[in-house]
Amino acid sequence: MEKIVILTGAGISAESGLGTFRDEQGLWAQHRIEDVATPDAFTRNPDLVHAFYNARRAQAVQAQPNAAHEALALLEREFSGEVLIITQNVDDLHERAGSQNVVHMHGALKRALCHACGHRWDAPLVMDKGDECPACQAHATRPDIVWFGEIPYGMELIDPALNTADLFVSIGTSGQVYPAAAYAQHSRRMGARTVELNLEPAEHSRDFEEHHYGPATEVVTAWVADILAGQV
Ligand SMILES: [Zn+2]
Repeated sequence: MEKIVILTGAGISAESGLGTFRDEQGLWAQHRIEDVATPDAFTRNPDLVHAFYNARRAQAVQAQPNAAHEALALLEREFSGEVLIITQNVDDLHERAGSQNVVHMHGALKRALCHACGHRWDAPLVMDKGDECPACQAHATRPDIVWFGEIPYGMELIDPALNTADLFVSIGTSGQVYPAAAYAQHSRRMGARTVELNLEPAEHSRDFEEHHYGPATEVVTAWVADILAGQV
């Protein structure tokens, strides 16, 4: 086994205190997706969209990586082959835990994007529709987040990785958001062994050959320990 591709979702950051779509108390519960996470929403009400992402950014800055993020960073350091993390998360907890090979398919709270010229830069903690693009001076800055209806980032890296993975592992995803929900089936068809690590079975659970259910800090650390023990 030489290549491990790992898809992570909100479930891996939940124990760091960052809410998931499904939390009844979380930030997401207070807004409809179509009001805060689509290009149309931003056109209609940029103040609301910025306020929503400013709140999420403030939460993410306070959050700390947990044992599951740290276990994946350890795996990348110690595994003899290649480890790629494809994350749906917009926090930077994988990087802060020490992972280096990370694709943020849904963008990043830490980054800003100019709608006018496409320039990207480090976002301030609080973004505002009046912010000026440092490259073209347009007042058209938005969070560098892939919204519903937009094309995810990194597809040029993700597709070849899925095609050549020996092991595909999905961690903390509910299997409701495409294209990521199709990755397990795709990588399995291309010859990868597929493993699900989740709090509870995902909607597409049958796409996986192996399942471990429980909190991410427990099932991910145990799984990484098994993989590293098995390569000796
Ligand atoms: Zn610009």
